[in-house]
Amino acid sequence: MKNIAFATIKELREMLDKKEISAAELLDIFIKRFDQFDPELGSALEIFDKESVLGSAAKSGPLAGIPGIAKDVIAQKGRALTCASKILRGFVSTFDATAVARIKEAGGLFLGRANCDEFAMGSSNENSAYKNAHNPWDLSRVPGGSSGGPSVAVAAGLVPWSLGTDTGGSVRQPAAFCNNVGLLPTYGHVSRYGLVAYGSSLDKIGVFSRTVYDNALVFSQIAGNDQLKDSSSLPVNPKDYTSLLNGKLRKDLVLGVVSNALYADGVDPEIVVAIEQAIEELKRQGARIKHVELPVLLYANSAYTIISRAEAASNLAKFDGVRYGLRDQAAVLEQMYSKTRHKGFGDEVRRRILVGNYVLSAGHAAEFYANAKKVQNMVQHDFAKIFEEVDLCIMPVTPTPAFKIGCITSSLEMDLQDIFTTPISVAGVPAMSVPCGFTKSKLPIGMQLVGPHLSEELLFQTAHAYEQATLWHTMHPQGY
Ligand code: GLN
Repeated sequence: MKNIAFATIKELREMLDKKEISAAELLDIFIKRFDQFDPELGSALEIFDKESVLGSAAKSGPLAGIPGIAKDVIAQKGRALTCASKILRGFVSTFDATAVARIKEAGGLFLGRANCDEFAMGSSNENSAYKNAHNPWDLSRVPGGSSGGPSVAVAAGLVPWSLGTDTGGSVRQPAAFCNNVGLLPTYGHVSRYGLVAYGSSLDKIGVFSRTVYDNALVFSQIAGNDQLKDSSSLPVNPKDYTSLLNGKLRKDLVLGVVSNALYADGVDPEIVVAIEQAIEELKRQGARIKHVELPVLLYANSAYTIISRAEAASNLAKFDGVRYGLRDQAAVLEQMYSKTRHKGFGDEVRRRILVGNYVLSAGHAAEFYANAKKVQNMVQHDFAKIFEEVDLCIMPVTPTPAFKIGCITSSLEMDLQDIFTTPISVAGVPAMSVPCGFTKSKLPIGMQLVGPHLSEELLFQTAHAYEQATLWHTMHPQGY
């Protein structure tokens, strides 16, 4: 029998269809793997009981019987929803997020809630109120964040796919740190209904998987119009994003290497070499390579910081002890609010609420928030111009490979981790993190492909052709 732990969705589908294994047996294997490995990995906050998982989804469909896990900021009906925060301890969702409902309709099984940074704020999964997640390639290192849990679960062979969210890099960066394929869809392409908001104008639900094909398959289930429930959802019809995946690049493809990102100060030389080799491979397959510049790169990260904090401060105002989760009793209402919020939110979340309220406050809003929105316009304009010349861009996902747990203590330094991911978030365009090699010390390296609005199909096609020729994704961490 195949190595089920690291089998792809496509392979598991075949085994299920040929009745070599049943959905119940498959689920059992994966749940047991969580029992065995998750105490050291910390990828899940909860694994559900088997019967309730089996009964929760359609019996047929492209994902029938295939287990996965969702980041604990995405609502699952009848399940706890904590956002890895103490403030939501005890809160149970009464409905499914649209992405969850659509996967269940396609037969997919959600076997638990994945760990993450509190309210998706962070780049290392060290801000979870419950526990750290660890990188299976080196347990002393972070898996990236904020979707550390969903990424670790896929990388260590605990599930073949997972849902994360990416506001400023939280799918792409952990995918790069753990050797997964990670998709950031176009803003609005996947409904945000049922996703607990961090920065509403930037939040996107994205997919982790081991292969590009699997990623396209899961994305095909969740993408598309949901305007009745999410007014920012795009009126795009669902389609099958796997149909062009034949291992070949599109004819006459032009790729733009973002030189001032790839050759920026502070990018690890091993990452530069790996991406240069990837570019050579794409060239060999017939792509035309151009060098382009993204002049607003540095400012984009600052704009992201301001916009995301401002939106976080407003979105998190609703957690006041009245309607959701934790309540700390006090004689006076005002005190109840502040005691609850003080107890319930962790340091990073509190810091962001403070900064967010500051940049929105009278006298400062024009200086900070309004300027950040202007920079956002410039970033969008820069990308639009680049995409007149090239079909997709290539740049690093991160300046360094996975770093040690506890080694980054300044929040400014942590924010700089996102320097290559936040500009894309601010532009609202789609991107993918694709495995493209390893450092000498066996840490994964990711390459970022970025495309214009709604270019997911081309991203998948390009990443697939590259993946089929290089097979980096077939490498797994030892011991799992
Ligand atoms: N690290 C970034 C932040 O903390 C991105 C997080 C995310 O994408 N959710 O804001």
